[in-house]
Amino acid sequence: MTDPMLPGTISQDESRYLMHTFRRQPLELVRGEGARVWDADGNRLLDFVGGIAVNVLGHAHPAVVRAIAKQAATLIHTSNLYYTRPQVELAARLNAVGLEGRCFFGNSGAEANEAAVKLARKWGKLNRDGAFEVISAMGSFHGRTLAMVAATGQPKYQAPYAPMPDGFRHVPFNDIDALRAAVTERTVAILLEPIQGEAGVIPAAQGYLRAVRDLCDGENLLLVFDEIQTGMGRTGDFYAFQGYGVVPDVVTLAKGLGGGVPIGVCIAARRADVFEPGDHGSTFGGNPLACAAALATLGVIEEEGLVASAAAVGLYFERQAATRLAPFGATRGRGLMQALVLNDPIAQETQAAALHRGLIVNAIGDRVLRLVPPLTIGEPEIDEAIHVIEVCLDELTAHARTPEASEA
Ligand code: PLP
Repeated sequence: MTDPMLPGTISQDESRYLMHTFRRQPLELVRGEGARVWDADGNRLLDFVGGIAVNVLGHAHPAVVRAIAKQAATLIHTSNLYYTRPQVELAARLNAVGLEGRCFFGNSGAEANEAAVKLARKWGKLNRDGAFEVISAMGSFHGRTLAMVAATGQPKYQAPYAPMPDGFRHVPFNDIDALRAAVTERTVAILLEPIQGEAGVIPAAQGYLRAVRDLCDGENLLLVFDEIQTGMGRTGDFYAFQGYGVVPDVVTLAKGLGGGVPIGVCIAARRADVFEPGDHGSTFGGNPLACAAALATLGVIEEEGLVASAAAVGLYFERQAATRLAPFGATRGRGLMQALVLNDPIAQETQAAALHRGLIVNAIGDRVLRLVPPLTIGEPEIDEAIHVIEVCLDELTAHARTPEASEA
């Protein structure tokens, strides 16, 4: 028997000691700074995945590093049995950025959405004769807990775990008639991503969210926006819903909130805020360390004007892509939440080729490349990324165009 303390390659060790829940890229990351990361061989890469829309300030932002170090040396964790200043300050700060309401902190996006669904169910008991059903959209992604898999409108995530918890229904995204038809006396809330991320960056159509808001108002339902991926300035507004001019009753945030430190939040406007002591909880949720990191992240976003910058740099990306990548596909998205939708089913190959050339992008299915870089990037990084993608696509499609390849 081999000695378990003797290391093999990292992929061998991973395969031996970790559950096989992830299909990982052939890349071991050891360090990051801004939009750059370094692998174990010392290669420098440009990171346009950013922890899947988490590293809004890039890697190792000095303000976040300082805040974490200071808080770690002061008070890391206390439990929610006691008051801690960073949690209250963070909640107050979140009130100033788009939805006024009270906060419940957890450690992830899934937990933030769980809180939203539990809140909606309690609200239904109090305000809608015990209605409990949540309607969400096909193609959506809301997390990996059992209830959030049930909320997620993708059968592939549900199949291994059937039967699903009761109380979730799915309708086609951007189809207001289907949504209207699905509402019954059992319905309590509508849960939507304003721009579906995991589905391949699919924005809500103009007018759809407004119509959903009107439906919720007319039928006395709660409107919950999952801004776990779209929030924190990513789309060029602090919340994507601000770009649509539609305000929800409940919003959830996670991913970028802690600048890389795990934290999620469910924020409920007064109408929806029905939790009482004992209704919900989390040991780690909102601990001083995570809240200090989030406060620092929000501070930098404000001081460096990163919301406006995401809008401007995103527009620059769209313009550059429209000229230089037009032969290969088209962009879809807002701000720095962008997809390149390819004409050919070569997203996986492009992801691998780009990695080889020092650019990290995320392939979704066969035709979509998702780009969710740090909000701190500027035009030079966009130029660099577009150049790499252009070269890769040129090579991959040139290969497909050669007579030998087409005869094969
Ligand atoms: N909601 C959305 C829109 C997401 O994109 C994700 C993660 O990708 C989640 C929820 C789940 O977040 P977490 O993985 O932090 O639980």
